[in-house]
Amino acid sequence: VAELIKSIAQTTDLVDTYVPGHRTCAGCGPALAYRLVAKAAGRNTIFIGPTGCMYVANTSYACGPWAVPWTHAQITNGGAVASGIAEAFRMMIKKGKIQDEYPNIIVMAGDGGCSDIGLQAMSAMFYRGHKVLCVMYDNESYANTGIQVSPSTPYGATTMFTPAGPAIPEAKKHQMKDPMPIFLAGGHPYLKYGATASIGYPIDLMNKVRKGLAQDGPAFIHLQCPCPKGWSFPADRTIELAKLAVETGMWNLYEVENGDWAQKKFNVMPKKLKPVDEYLQTQGRFSHLQPEHVNKIQNFVNNRAKTLGMEVPLPPAK
Ligand code: SF4
Ligand code: MG
Repeated sequence: VAELIKSIAQTTDLVDTYVPGHRTCAGCGPALAYRLVAKAAGRNTIFIGPTGCMYVANTSYACGPWAVPWTHAQITNGGAVASGIAEAFRMMIKKGKIQDEYPNIIVMAGDGGCSDIGLQAMSAMFYRGHKVLCVMYDNESYANTGIQVSPSTPYGATTMFTPAGPAIPEAKKHQMKDPMPIFLAGGHPYLKYGATASIGYPIDLMNKVRKGLAQDGPAFIHLQCPCPKGWSFPADRTIELAKLAVETGMWNLYEVENGDWAQKKFNVMPKKLKPVDEYLQTQGRFSHLQPEHVNKIQNFVNNRAKTLGMEVPLPPAK
């Protein structure tokens, strides 16, 4: 089990296995996420990349930015491919065919590849109990095909498939789907570790990767990653937005250990939540919102904070 990291200074000695040479947008949150996850995991790691920005924008013919083994999977079957790789290693080690240590097997799936199109394979992987860490890098849309709506897209966000107009002035109508309770409170008995994470809190993220990899079975990390292209904000504000999401309660940082959903632990608890409007105003995808829509989002965030058990003063919502 790799030791937990206490400070950024401690990370300078860690090897980078997600290296320069990819074609993601400037300020890409998922690319930074990949670098941090890879750094925390280290050399003995295999990545599985279901289709998404972190496949499409990272690879061109015979070229990819990984200094460790990586394979593509279809957007539907990241969980199945990872399960197969995990079982092959388990059996080869058990039968003495290889002397290697069991590797870190990480499936880096986008919101589509994990909680929407890829949900069944990921759920099956968790259910069967393969020793794989699934990191869902969540840029809140199908971004590699041009920013289409996904279940992670927040209510009120413009995407190519949810433009604001006279019929639906708020753009996206539905609130987002939350994969944490689906996986952690939804009948996956071997899934004991689950956490939400943010690229705005890199030490917390890297330690969650190490904790996930230290499990005997599967682990899940839901990692919010601001996407300058899809969310319409300047490329130098990625980290600022990631932090603001947590400060406003648009994103919450917690972890579930020993499979005990009821005992979740909050890793970052703001003294009080800032109004969601501060976050919404930073992004072009929300620029059409009227006060009643902002208020609906504030209500959603306040209710989610209460449901999760966050004890924090909340901004007023009508
Ligand atoms: Fe990254 Fe978003 Fe660009 Fe995709 S569209 S490469 S997630 S910034
Ligand atoms: Mg996505």
